[in-house]
Parts: sequence; structure tokens; C-alpha cells
Amino acid sequence: MNNSVSFADVNGNRARDYRGRLAPSPTGLLHLGHARTFWIAARRAQEHRGTLILRNEDLDPQRSRAEFVQAMLEDLTWLGIKWTEGPDCGGPYGPYSQSERRSHYLEAWRRLLDNGWIYPCTCSRKDLALAASAPNDVDDEPIYPGRCRELIKPSQVDAPAGANWRFRVPEWKTIAFDDLHLGSQSFVPGKDFGDFLVWRRDDVPAYQLAVVMDDALMKITEVVRGADLLKSTARQILIFRALGLPVPAYYHCDLLRDDRGERMAKRHDSAGIRHLREIGLTPDQVLRKAETLLASEQNPGS
Ligand SMILES: [Zn+2]
Repeated sequence: MNNSVSFADVNGNRARDYRGRLAPSPTGLLHLGHARTFWIAARRAQEHRGTLILRNEDLDPQRSRAEFVQAMLEDLTWLGIKWTEGPDCGGPYGPYSQSERRSHYLEAWRRLLDNGWIYPCTCSRKDLALAASAPNDVDDEPIYPGRCRELIKPSQVDAPAGANWRFRVPEWKTIAFDDLHLGSQSFVPGKDFGDFLVWRRDDVPAYQLAVVMDDALMKITEVVRGADLLKSTARQILIFRALGLPVPAYYHCDLLRDDRGERMAKRHDSAGIRHLREIGLTPDQVLRKAETLLASEQNPGS
């Protein structure tokens, strides 16, 4: 068992054996885009003779459903994807469901607070709507204008509940990383994204914080995910650095478009793995279908 983070130990994970992860959130049924990303993650773990971990990202109690957890386990198994650590089979770095890992996220929150990286934001939704510039990406959070940055000096805070906590991004300092599939990437905090949430007012840790802690504690060496999360990766690198944790390698997969050219989302039932399985497609046919939907403008000819 090794459930504690050694913040001082920044000797990278990379020299160790390959550990990859599948990290679906049970907020809907898996679709072709997930199938392809998870298939690539499984293949890369296999090629490296590594370990594949399944992590159930059921952080949001409002949106996560137990029946979707069951469905994703079944669909992944049907696709022929095998993992050796996960909520269904256990492992040395569990628990493997985010809803059971709150103590780790609190530890990170405390550490970030003590080092001045985060601050409570009391802006209402209305304040933010009035002040914020519109984000470039509709799925992204608006760039926070920084209103609460210097307002409150938190001293005696025991728990994050009751405020939105934001990460103070180092503005205009480029964050660059080499993606193993898409090549060199760079983002500029303050322009591409602003002070982002690490803990929500309703006392739910934000995705970015949870994922960083989990990847560190589960000793993940390579993250395979969709290219829609590139900007999110830049945010996560800031958190890894702030916590003194080793940053994993990244492999961002090309996104898929549906027949109408729109980005694949969980609402597209016709692209659901469950649906394709029910109409008689084999796992191979499902994966081949996914290849035909690759968004050409995001495929750099590789
Ligand atoms: Zn604020």
C-alpha cells in the first residue's frame, strides 16, 4: 500500500514501469470517441508491457449514476479492453472511484492553500457573466477576471466548503509540453485560460485537482486522453508543479465528428457503444467505424 504523496519526492515517474489509465466518468453511456481513446490507451499499455488502471471519475454526485458505472465496465469489457487495477478488481493504489478519495483531494487543497496558490472566490454566477470575456471554446469555463485575487487573505480556513477556490495562474508565462501524438503544445495562462476552479462552492473538488492527485498517487506515467483536454492538461501541469509532483507524459488522441460534423458527445445515442452492439456490430467493426469519423482537420497527417 502506498497512499501517501511524498511532495518532496520529485524524481519522475518516468524511469519506472509504464502505468496508464482509463478514466471514464459515469455521467452517460460511452460513445465511439471514448471507445477509440480507451482502445489506444489499452494498446499503448500493452506495447509498453505496462499496467492499465481503470479509474471511475464519479466526482460529481449530481451527474454520476451507478448504472452508468456498470454500463461502462460492461462496454469496455465487450470491446476487449482489459485492466488489472480498478474499482471492480482492486489494486495497490485504491480506492479507484473518485467519490471515495476525498481525503487525498483535501490534502492537495490544504497544500495549495498553505503555499499561496489558491484563493476563495465569492463571485456570483451573475458577477462572472457580467465581467468575464467569453471563452473561445464553448465547453470551457470563461476566463476569470481576477476580481477576488487580492480581496481576501485566507488565514484560518479549515475546510474548502462554502467558496469557489481558484488557482492563481502565473499570467503570461507559457506552459509548454511535448505531446506524444500531437507534438509540441503551448498555452499562455491569462490568455488561453484564467484562474481556474480547484474546489467548488458545493464542496465538490474540481476535476483538475482530483485528476492531478489521482494520477500522482496511482503513479501514472502516461495519460492518454482526447484532444479536447489539451488546455485542461496545461492547467493540470500547473497543479503538478505547484504540488511538487512529477508530471506524466501525455498522448492526446484526435477527436471524432459525428455524421453532421459535430463533436461527439454523450447525447449522441446513435454513436453509443451500447447501441452499436445491440444492432449487431462486432468490437472490431465499432473501432473501424470510429476511425472513419476522425476529424480530418485535427489529424496532422500522422
Ligand atoms: Zn471572485
